[in-house]
Amino acid sequence: MIYQRSSALFAEAEKYIPGGVNSPVRAFKSVGGTPVFIERAKGAYLYDADGNRLIDYIASWGPMILGHAHEPVIRAVTEKAEKGTSFGMPTETETEIARLAVSMVPNIDKIRFVNSGTEACMSAVRLARGYTDREKIIKFSGCYHGHSDAFLIQAGSGAVTFGSPNSPGVTQGTAKDTLLATYNDLESVKALFEANKNEIAAIIIEPVAGNMGCILPAEGFLQGLRSLCDQYGALLIFDEVMTGFRLARGGAQEVFDIKADIVTFGKVIGGGLPVGAFASRNEIMNHLAPLGPVYQAGTLSGNPLAMSAGLAMLSELNNSPEIFKSLEEKTEYLHKGIARVLTKHGITHRINRMGSMISIHFTDKEVKDFTSSATGNNDSFKKFFHGMLNEGIHLPPSAFESWFLNDALSYEDLDFTINAVDKIAMSL
Ligand code: PMP
Repeated sequence: MIYQRSSALFAEAEKYIPGGVNSPVRAFKSVGGTPVFIERAKGAYLYDADGNRLIDYIASWGPMILGHAHEPVIRAVTEKAEKGTSFGMPTETETEIARLAVSMVPNIDKIRFVNSGTEACMSAVRLARGYTDREKIIKFSGCYHGHSDAFLIQAGSGAVTFGSPNSPGVTQGTAKDTLLATYNDLESVKALFEANKNEIAAIIIEPVAGNMGCILPAEGFLQGLRSLCDQYGALLIFDEVMTGFRLARGGAQEVFDIKADIVTFGKVIGGGLPVGAFASRNEIMNHLAPLGPVYQAGTLSGNPLAMSAGLAMLSELNNSPEIFKSLEEKTEYLHKGIARVLTKHGITHRINRMGSMISIHFTDKEVKDFTSSATGNNDSFKKFFHGMLNEGIHLPPSAFESWFLNDALSYEDLDFTINAVDKIAMSL
């Protein structure tokens, strides 16, 4: 496929936007080449500036679970836009989406909407600190919770892809309050609690990690975190920005039957518009301003367009929960097909999958934490990524990102993808 116009557009963008992109993972820095510029998208397909049609496994990094330009979402947004795009005053739509989200997700009484997953996680940690009157938090190496200062310590996603998991600009004062544990290693968490008695406000975790590729929690791991939090008086924050409304109606809490104290959302909850949210039981949420002392605010929070997109999306997922099963079946089909083909060609690989999240690492190690995910062969990944792009399939341009399947993908699309892997496997 030819990506000539995309290259020209990227060169122009680089003149005015750092790295030509407004979010680093969009640049093809770790795989080389230039990003594909998108003109429009529908269902499972992206249509780019060169007139190519691409099968999309990024889904805008998660939100487009029902495919692009999904009719009910587009209708809701266009109808709302006619009535004004922002008021900075309450609207009934905010209550409607809040009521629906609270009914879908276990263990939450109230939810507050913000504009991104970053804001959601940042606010959740502030709330946990305010509620417990403690300052430190535990995060896991390779997990990504947005780009606020406290999380850019051994962060996954673009931060690791571009070699700055610990970003300059984060003060030592901030960094010292973020304690690092190893994913799937309860002992590493216990040791931190023991060494910091009565100081740890919360653990924040991606219950299924998607920012060092897709990594599943080992049997008993999340339950073990719950017990440790109870034992040491800390809160358990599930960052469900990726998993929320994607793994199941009630997200990872429902799938693993674990109660988190605070849950954060982003991506699917906004139906493709900029939305994040955090939620908890009344006792904790009532600590937020204006009810309580923990301050958090936003000029565009609860924006009517964003709320109506999210409401249309959540309504559909709520009314058709079979979507989650259908997505899982498609992802399993893709998993098996790709594994079959790579094995046939004798290519060492590991595929991790949960629900509609999946990723491939070119390694012979079990991928269960940050260290093992980093053993993947990046040269093979680069060839794989570009080989697939050349076949008209757009994967995330980094092995440290999960792919997201959308329900508009047909089995023909999946077969086409598996055949493409078969075609390019020789060159890996
Ligand atoms: N948490 C997780 C688990 C994420 O994957 C992301 C973004 N990929 C964020 C938080 C931050 O969300 P946003 O990019 O909307 O700020």
